[in-house]
Amino acid sequence: MIEKITQAFILKKTVYKEADYIVSFYTYDFGKVSCIARNAKKSSKRFGGRLELFLNVKIKFKEGIKHIKYLEDCNIVSSYADIMNDLDKYKWGSFILEYIENLSETEQINQDLFALLQKSLEHINEKHNIINMIPRFQYRALMCVGLNPQLKSCFKCGKDVNDIGYLSIRQGGIACVQCGKQSGASIEGFKFVKKFDKNDHKTIMNNIALLTRFTKFHTGKEFKSEKFVMEN
Ligand SMILES: [Zn+2]
Repeated sequence: MIEKITQAFILKKTVYKEADYIVSFYTYDFGKVSCIARNAKKSSKRFGGRLELFLNVKIKFKEGIKHIKYLEDCNIVSSYADIMNDLDKYKWGSFILEYIENLSETEQINQDLFALLQKSLEHINEKHNIINMIPRFQYRALMCVGLNPQLKSCFKCGKDVNDIGYLSIRQGGIACVQCGKQSGASIEGFKFVKKFDKNDHKTIMNNIALLTRFTKFHTGKEFKSEKFVMEN
């Protein structure tokens, strides 16, 4: 079996059989990787508290037959303790982990996405104002995997869209106000304010909901944390 070592973030942990966990990691060197952590559930000594969310860890795993991976070792590089101790930070932190989980393909290396994940968790851990950065995170995460909406110019008439436009989920782009109004509901557009982080609370939440809807449509995945964060 080949042994591999890399830096990673824990995205998800699920119970597997009686004694094990399956842990989904986002790694620097291999992209998203799922490992079986044998005996991790049965014995608290096996990995201690090192398989929790919001940890930056260094992992060692081995790949067996049928590409099944087994976690051998996991050590904490840094922890984002404030996220675990604050409900609001925990909500948005979970939303970010689910975004990365849903947008990334298994074992496709994407170091831009890794860097975005690290920077975003650091921001949530350290700063008080969290929601301002969420739409920008969503847009950048979509950009890292080539799914971002085209926001520069109107997809109907080609004119530059400066501030407000109508985001079309299906078209994957923005329409200017004029085109959006002319075609009404037929372009399936939603009002979208481009200035990501200088908006009021209501506009930011509207942008987050719209980008989440966009992401769900283009990935076909559900977001369990959406309901949780939209209660804000
Ligand atoms: Zn237009």
